[in-house]
Amino acid sequence: MQKLALTYLSSLMSQFLSNEQLIDVAKQFGTPLYVYNTQQITQQYEQLTAAFKNVKARFFYACKSLTNVNILQHLRKLGSGLDCVSINEVMLGLKAGFAPHNILYTPNCVDFEEIEAAKQLGVHINIDNISILEQFGTKYGGSYPVCIRLNPHIMAGGNYKISTGHVDSKFGISIHQIRHIERVVKTTGIHVQGIHMHTGSEIKDVNVFLQGLEVMFAMATHFPNIEFIDLGSGFKVPYQAGDVQTDIDILGTKVAEAFEAYQQETGKSLEVWFEPGKFLVSEAGYFVVKANVIKQTTATVFVGVNSGFNHLIRPMFYDAYHRIENISNPQGAARIYTVVGNICETDTFAWDRKINEVREGDYLVFYNAGAYGFEMSSNFNSRLRPAEVMLNAAGHWQLIRQRETFDDLLRNQIISTEA
Ligand SMILES: *Cc1c(COP(=O)(O)O)cnc(C)c1O
Repeated sequence: MQKLALTYLSSLMSQFLSNEQLIDVAKQFGTPLYVYNTQQITQQYEQLTAAFKNVKARFFYACKSLTNVNILQHLRKLGSGLDCVSINEVMLGLKAGFAPHNILYTPNCVDFEEIEAAKQLGVHINIDNISILEQFGTKYGGSYPVCIRLNPHIMAGGNYKISTGHVDSKFGISIHQIRHIERVVKTTGIHVQGIHMHTGSEIKDVNVFLQGLEVMFAMATHFPNIEFIDLGSGFKVPYQAGDVQTDIDILGTKVAEAFEAYQQETGKSLEVWFEPGKFLVSEAGYFVVKANVIKQTTATVFVGVNSGFNHLIRPMFYDAYHRIENISNPQGAARIYTVVGNICETDTFAWDRKINEVREGDYLVFYNAGAYGFEMSSNFNSRLRPAEVMLNAAGHWQLIRQRETFDDLLRNQIISTEA
């Protein structure tokens, strides 16, 4: 077992940036620092396209996981489309050079004006409630095709906060409301081009997708004009040795078989769309911090680092596990530490971790920091957000977001001169 875990880790390690590379960039650009390796994004993208080679698949990178425009450009060059959840993400996508027809806009609870803005920009629109569907259909009839986000009522996902397909979820239109959807479609003449589901993040079990697909095939009978079924995302990647991940290759094979059978049965050759976020960028990201202090208390030994949940919120928000290593002392004896941040709120990154002896000033790295890392950062405690650097396809280091400065904290504040 132990041996298996080690082999597994070392196969992961071979794609990773080395400690030396990370220390070099940390010295050059300072810490805390988000570091992205675009070659790993390329590998993940190629793994996906290879897994789904036997079906007409299209991939739309769910950019809410990491929106730096340079990362978007990299994915565009690989041939990916873009999945956006706000109009600003759509505009970032256009800025990164994506053609509108390669952008999918999947908002939730936005107002009608924002939907209309997306129509103006010419992107695919996923509608996730009947009120908007009715307004859109009434105004535009069949002149602008749309996709409908359905809720298949499948409980899935790594954590309740990131599950979106269950009965209490605010996402999608319930499959039990299909009669109502049909009424709206019929009365307004709206052109439904695709149907969509996304049941949450970190779904380990391939069968969840296949079950969802069966539900979608059943729903497809109500929409004679659809061209695609969008299965969303939720592909899980390993965060620690022994973690189960979504088996993309098996999923690819099974999905291809299911679409083939569907075609045999109905004569319809549909496309399948996916919206992977975490799968494409998680492992490509490294978050490098510095150990500020080692603090021994009566109960534990804390390593206090120059960051906090204001920079990486996943451990506190989702109880997420991020592997942490001391890249400055990789040969040091392993000791047990609790790794915490420097903000005035409990911000524990990890309890009781075995880490090579940490000395004040050492650099630590958090792995799997590409997805929902920088993207969920804030200025809590009036601390500055980190810089981002990228190892580009040509093998060069590029600063892609400068570290914030004190002026950024005041930028939008209006200081009153009244007494
Ligand atoms: C967040 C989200 C995704 C991406 O999920 P991952 O788990 O990061 O792959 C895809 N589609 C939609 C609609 C989302 O909201």
